Amino acid sequence: MDKLSVHQFGCRSDNFGLLLRDPVANLCASIDTPDGETIWRELQSKGWQLTHIFNTHHHYDHVPGNEMLKERTQCTIVGAKNDAARIPGIDILLEDGDIYEFGANNITMLETPGHTLGSVCYFVEPDKILFTGDTLFSMGCGRLFEGSADLMWQSMQKIRALPDETQIYCGHEYTLSNAAFALQVEPDNPALQRRVNDVKALLCAHKDTLPVSLGTEKATNPFLRADCPELQRYFGLQGSAPLDVFTATRALKDKF
Ligand code: ZN
Ligand code: FE
Repeated sequence: MDKLSVHQFGCRSDNFGLLLRDPVANLCASIDTPDGETIWRELQSKGWQLTHIFNTHHHYDHVPGNEMLKERTQCTIVGAKNDAARIPGIDILLEDGDIYEFGANNITMLETPGHTLGSVCYFVEPDKILFTGDTLFSMGCGRLFEGSADLMWQSMQKIRALPDETQIYCGHEYTLSNAAFALQVEPDNPALQRRVNDVKALLCAHKDTLPVSLGTEKATNPFLRADCPELQRYFGLQGSAPLDVFTATRALKDKF
């Protein structure tokens, strides 16, 4: 019961609200602020005092509650140095690989550009929790609004290098539509078929499809699998560079 925990709840239409709580140090962080009032209500109902906000990127559905929550709680806002000008109320500016001490837990910031140029993920140790914002979704990845496919593929590889047992929390519940696309490009992947069945059962029971382990994502998410032969074959790109397969996958998903 003394353990770090993540409280996940719905925000806006399909964003996740995420509160990372350390009961020992009495710390509570909101990962992004998709809706300040909804997050405030969750804090009140739990009796938690917000101490931090960790922003993954500057988009309108990830920062709108920053200033309001900071005003009400005097919390510290942490974000990317790269994106400081676009993160309202930012106090702590981190660069790739920087470690922020959150009580007894280390939170490493990873720069993962692609969705936006300033997009970052936060890796919490020792619990191995990864907050990916709109960079990685379950069975999907963010659209390339600012970065190139090359940058995003590098970011995917950075995430892929983390341990399989890492628990992924992302910015949106997009899993079911991502699953339909994943099945189209890799219909014979048994791990993917299992995950899709699990996802349908979760949604039927009105449960969230996140968190998901990175191991499961490595086996099912086409955007982490640009070097696997089945995907290369689907795109007719046998023997091509993984970046070409990733680029083709992202382009097809944009039209899906
Ligand atoms: Zn976004
Ligand atoms: Fe978003």
